[in-house]
Amino acid sequence: MARPRVALIAHDQKKDDIVSFARDHALYLAGCDLVATGTTGRHIAEACPDLQIRCLKSGPLGGDQQIGALIAERGIDFLIFFVDPLTSMPHDVDVKALMRLAIVYDIPMALNRATAEALLRQEQAGASPGPRN
Ligand code: PGA
Repeated sequence: MARPRVALIAHDQKKDDIVSFARDHALYLAGCDLVATGTTGRHIAEACPDLQIRCLKSGPLGGDQQIGALIAERGIDFLIFFVDPLTSMPHDVDVKALMRLAIVYDIPMALNRATAEALLRQEQAGASPGPRN
């Protein structure tokens, strides 16, 4: 079976959460092709040196749009995006555009840890929750 292609993003207030999530699931994630926005990717890579992560630009500098473009090119199987619901962001339009593309291309998108945990459980059980292309 092909390695799942997973995009990882976390807003600043959620960076610790995604690092903890990545630590808890490092074994599974090591079998995935990982891509992340710049700062998120660097945080995870520091905490989990065994994970190979392709770090794109920082979110506010275009990283969210880069991940959106990968989704449009069918290069991502699922998106894990820990969103901070309590802080307004200068790049809010980019975040909205990214989520829109995840919906358009119908890829699983976990916006909080509970959903990300459920998604990984499903993936590990071998039942892909979304179309794999
Ligand atoms: P970052 O971007 O990983 O570079 O912080 C995330 C975002 O805020 O979209």
